[in-house]
Amino acid sequence: MEDIRVRIAPSPSGNLHIGTARTALFNYLYAKKTGGKFVLRIEDTDLERSNAEYTQNIFDSLKALGLQWDEGPDVGGEFGPYYQSERFDIYPKYAQILVDKGYAYECFCTPEELEAEKEEAMKNHKAYVYSRKCMNLSEEEKAALRAKGIKPSIRFKVEHKELIFNDLVKGELKFDTNLIGDFVIMKSNGTPTYNFAVVIDDMMMKISHIIRGEDHISNTPKQILIYEALGAEVPKFGHLGMILAPDRSKLSKRHGATAVSDFVKQGYLTDALINFVALLGWSPSDGVEIKTVEEIAKDFRIHDVSSSNSIFEYDKLNWMNGQYIKKMDISKLTEMTVPFLAKYDLNNMSRENLEKMIEITREPITTLNQLEYDCAYFFGQDVDYTEGLETLKKEEASLVLNRLLELMNGWDFNSDEHIHDKLADFRAEFKEKHNMKPKETMWIVRAAITGRTRGADMAKTMTILGKDVCTHRVKQALEV
Ligand code: GLU
Repeated sequence: MEDIRVRIAPSPSGNLHIGTARTALFNYLYAKKTGGKFVLRIEDTDLERSNAEYTQNIFDSLKALGLQWDEGPDVGGEFGPYYQSERFDIYPKYAQILVDKGYAYECFCTPEELEAEKEEAMKNHKAYVYSRKCMNLSEEEKAALRAKGIKPSIRFKVEHKELIFNDLVKGELKFDTNLIGDFVIMKSNGTPTYNFAVVIDDMMMKISHIIRGEDHISNTPKQILIYEALGAEVPKFGHLGMILAPDRSKLSKRHGATAVSDFVKQGYLTDALINFVALLGWSPSDGVEIKTVEEIAKDFRIHDVSSSNSIFEYDKLNWMNGQYIKKMDISKLTEMTVPFLAKYDLNNMSRENLEKMIEITREPITTLNQLEYDCAYFFGQDVDYTEGLETLKKEEASLVLNRLLELMNGWDFNSDEHIHDKLADFRAEFKEKHNMKPKETMWIVRAAITGRTRGADMAKTMTILGKDVCTHRVKQALEV
């Protein structure tokens, strides 16, 4: 069996995009499923747009998502370097091989000349392809142009034919190479173009399967032609449908977060994120959507991946994130919530109470950033009564709260069960004596102690706050 080697080749011109994360995941899944290797290559040839912070963000985000690579810039491997910028000396050699074999030629056309060709084509309503003006220059002509200081680019000579390949996702695809035109593989400044560098790297890194977004489909024929010209084995290609926003436009910042690290900042768990993106184009055979990456890998078949575009439903992601928040190990979850509670002084709260607070507030939330508001009443002496004001204005309120003050003094705030039972007795008393519905009594208690109309379990909230704070707040509530 052939050695399966897949790769993800992001350009560090931004933080890791959620779409790239999905491409990385599908490659990772394919490697896991087949016992292959998952390679990370950083395509930082565009030195102006690339920066080290983005590279670090790509590493961190992939790792946080659990997509550890087998070979790559930091871990090394047999086929490095894995930074494209460290491979600059490799490409001219291969370009020269293509020139020597007659598959490529030097082009001395200036940007102005090329622009004029394009304009001409536009005027005639023709799709532009290069005129091949430089294809048959003699050695003397080339020498003369060089003497004028013109540095040539190198163009690949596109043979006219129908190019057919079998896409792993999309099935058979056909291209008329007449429409491609001779394309540049080495720029006049000596750097390779994307289509050339990617082929040389994939070839040298022995990549067997290229799984990537369908926005690259138009590049694939060019890349196949280069493999063929070099006499190299052409890898198998699989092009994934795009991820679109709910309004079917390209997913962009105006729809919400798009970078993995921004999702994390908003309180999405990476386990939920990666589970969610797996479902963009793939569905589990047993219909159970909540799954770990390892579980997905067992069930994954590249041929089952949908060839159509997927809609990025933020609502569904929120739901899924909520599911992960509910079932996550409480100690781990508590750790993760700390940055979202930066507004509060956590030093005044014991670790035990902190975990308890998260345990009783996590149920309704879908993203961790909601905790800042939902936990506000656990901190400080006073609370904001805006939300609970209506409830506190009810005429029974002072009756309830005065009685609560009286009784609470004898309650044991070290025991959840004790407070729970006492609150039950309290409700029963008001039902019996004043015919108040238990929940109405509790609304008043909640409004007084938390300022809210809804929130976490009342008994546990009270034990976290302690007797002094509860007493203080009930007194305050009586005043408002
Ligand atoms: N650097 C390219 C990108 O980020 C890689 C494309 C490919 O997978 O070939 O789009």
